[in-house]
Amino acid sequence: MMWNSPKVGILGGGQLGRMLTESANRLNIDVRILDAENAPAKQISAHENHTVGHFNDQQAVQELAKTCDVVTAEIEHVNTQALEAVASQVKIEPSWEAIRIIQNKYDQKKHLSKFNIPMADYRELTQNTPEELVQIGEQLGFPLMLKSKTLAYDGRGNYPVKSKEEIPAALEALKERPLYAEKWANFTMELAVIVVKTNDSVLSYPTVETVQEDSVCKLVYAPARNVSDIINKKAQELARNAVAAFKGKGVFGVEMFLLEDDSILLCEIASRVHNSGHYTIEGCGLSQFDTHLRAILDLPIPAQSVELRQPSVMLNIIGGATPDSHLKVAERALSIPNASIHLYSKGAARPGRKMGHITVTAATMYEAETFIQPLIDTVDEIRA
Ligand code: ATP
Ligand code: MG
Ligand code: MG
Repeated sequence: MMWNSPKVGILGGGQLGRMLTESANRLNIDVRILDAENAPAKQISAHENHTVGHFNDQQAVQELAKTCDVVTAEIEHVNTQALEAVASQVKIEPSWEAIRIIQNKYDQKKHLSKFNIPMADYRELTQNTPEELVQIGEQLGFPLMLKSKTLAYDGRGNYPVKSKEEIPAALEALKERPLYAEKWANFTMELAVIVVKTNDSVLSYPTVETVQEDSVCKLVYAPARNVSDIINKKAQELARNAVAAFKGKGVFGVEMFLLEDDSILLCEIASRVHNSGHYTIEGCGLSQFDTHLRAILDLPIPAQSVELRQPSVMLNIIGGATPDSHLKVAERALSIPNASIHLYSKGAARPGRKMGHITVTAATMYEAETFIQPLIDTVDEIRA
């Protein structure tokens, strides 16, 4: 195949679409973004072939698909009916079937159960009544995690139910949403692996440690600290097996729980590039954004390029107490050795909103941790 500046449509132009675009720009890949005017990804891709609209709007998806070789998504909460409708006209990667199953966390778990992927035990709610959840609580025990099947992100859609007494409050908090309940995972660490599914292979990046605060990813340590090589390999294998259960090409983010007895449970899969993989920009030969584009375009991915080159720590910059307090973190990072600053250009911050991230790489994890500590302190200071 002669190199032909392929045209890639992206549903969603937030920070993930923006970092995909940064990667695409270096290969003359022509991205066309479907999102609002001036979305973060559009700001760094100046041409007239973007589509203005919402990634759930069938008409807009159709318009985008007309001008692309491949359509992909930076978010799993897209209109898969719209994707199915254009599937005969344009390649969709990963498949709309994969996105449809994954965007419903209950369907995702049911699907993965068929492939013997270890997960916390779970039960579907069909009536969302206290009586029903009391009964499920007797089966799963307390605490349990009540979860919305759909439209979940950053823990919005989860409610930890510590005891029977909290059932009414939990159902009130998640009312009008389709629900399931999950047995509590008593984890010692949360792990994540970025998996790349290509035409004929399933590759994995190293196992990283993720730290969430208020259910939002705060820190990522690559590689996971104090985790044996055996566990690192086992988590990668679990992640690859889970992703192999889905149709289509591209990057998937796999979240897992490491338990006290060193067993690993899958938490959830995202059918897209993932926050736990931002470290790959500086930490690996090819970033998750590079390999996603290569996978969906059937371009080569040398296996060594997804190995870790240097220990890396990634810190999210989350919107703080004021609309510009997050800039304090970025400003302080300017003076930190080996700190790569990524700001997403979203404008004014809201508390809890992901505004950017910083990755520090160093010869040792200890050194990387030492460099990034003042920035963690600043993040804690600006917290709303
Ligand atoms: P994301 O932003 O990653 O898409 P989400 O809203 O889909 O998040 P989950 O990933 O299911 O939510 O859960 C968010 C966090 O809540 C997990 O990273 C973990 O810290 C905690 N959690 C989720 N499920 C359980 C469980 N069964 N037991 C204990 N903690 C859990
Ligand atoms: Mg999720
Ligand atoms: Mg999650």
